Amino acid sequence: MKLSRLGEFGLIEKIRRIAPGGPGVLLGIGDDAAWVKAKTSSFLITSDLLIERVHFDFKWTSPYALGYKSLAVNLSDIAAMGGTPAYLILSVGIPIEFDAQVVEEFYRGVRSLALRSGVALVGGDTSASESFFVSVALVGHAPHRPIGRNGGKAGDDVYVTGNLGDSALALSLLRHRPRETKRRASSYLLSRHHFPTARVKAGTLLAREKLAKAMIDVSDGLLQDLGHLCKASNIGAVVWEDSLPLSRAYRSVAGREGTRFALTGGEDYELLFTARRRDRSRLEKLQHRLDVPITRIGRCVSSREGITVWNTEGEPRSIGVKGYNHFRFTS
Ligand code: ADP
Ligand code: MG
Repeated sequence: MKLSRLGEFGLIEKIRRIAPGGPGVLLGIGDDAAWVKAKTSSFLITSDLLIERVHFDFKWTSPYALGYKSLAVNLSDIAAMGGTPAYLILSVGIPIEFDAQVVEEFYRGVRSLALRSGVALVGGDTSASESFFVSVALVGHAPHRPIGRNGGKAGDDVYVTGNLGDSALALSLLRHRPRETKRRASSYLLSRHHFPTARVKAGTLLAREKLAKAMIDVSDGLLQDLGHLCKASNIGAVVWEDSLPLSRAYRSVAGREGTRFALTGGEDYELLFTARRRDRSRLEKLQHRLDVPITRIGRCVSSREGITVWNTEGEPRSIGVKGYNHFRFTS
């Protein structure tokens, strides 16, 4: 079957069926990170690829920002399980005509976020390649029982940390270079695109307090990742468009695009989670201990009802494109 028909997630499902299992695997392929047993504790392991012209473009991404982001996206996967990141293995493919300084700048970006996140770079691999690429593996501790994508139940609330859509809106500004730009708002959006914040503290607190029942990070767009959570939990969901958290910069720049980037854009690296209704006040209290706001954006329903977005008039809104899928170019 052509990859364009199968799509990224169909392909991963095929790989999952062939993948060899082993003892001590508490949670394998299919979540934000794998969970494996050690003698007296357990570890979370995640991996991501970043490839030039697929995930980033040196036309508008500095090597430093790329280094920073390569770690941030993996921190986010560990955060989405409620874990604490610890050991980083980073491999790079580099075109031979590149200057060593570019690679050093890349590693300075990695270093700045690693130092702040308590992560040690412990190995990797280096090779010549046709375009620049980065392969990152991150190992974390699981101090609390990890939160999978599969714990959501109909009737639960749906929450998200931070704001949605800033990163995708920034990317569209980079691509289309509108003649009129709002300087301050644009530079805020660009900083969210280049230097995303993984919500590690929120993730570990939500796991420790057992408040999040299902959790995923929003990397491919809210609706796409909500789709993954719903599929794993065998539920549907309703999202209220007017409760989507949007930054002031987003509101001032988005214009006619409205909530499109917040719903379907990628690379937010916020946490999307479900929680029981009776935990609403506990979540409100937890909010004071977090460094990021959390917003209730919807509700879990039965899988039969699928995923719908209700607009401000209280009407269901149909959404064409759901989010990013490698290999599949139509929705
Ligand atoms: P994320 O957006 O969080 O990186 P993905 O959609 O890339 O998640 O991956 C979903 C799941 O599939 C994860 O458990 C990941 O480890 C697994 N996965 C993706 N690609 C492969 C592969 N080539 N081989 C084995 N597992 C894979
Ligand atoms: Mg991935």
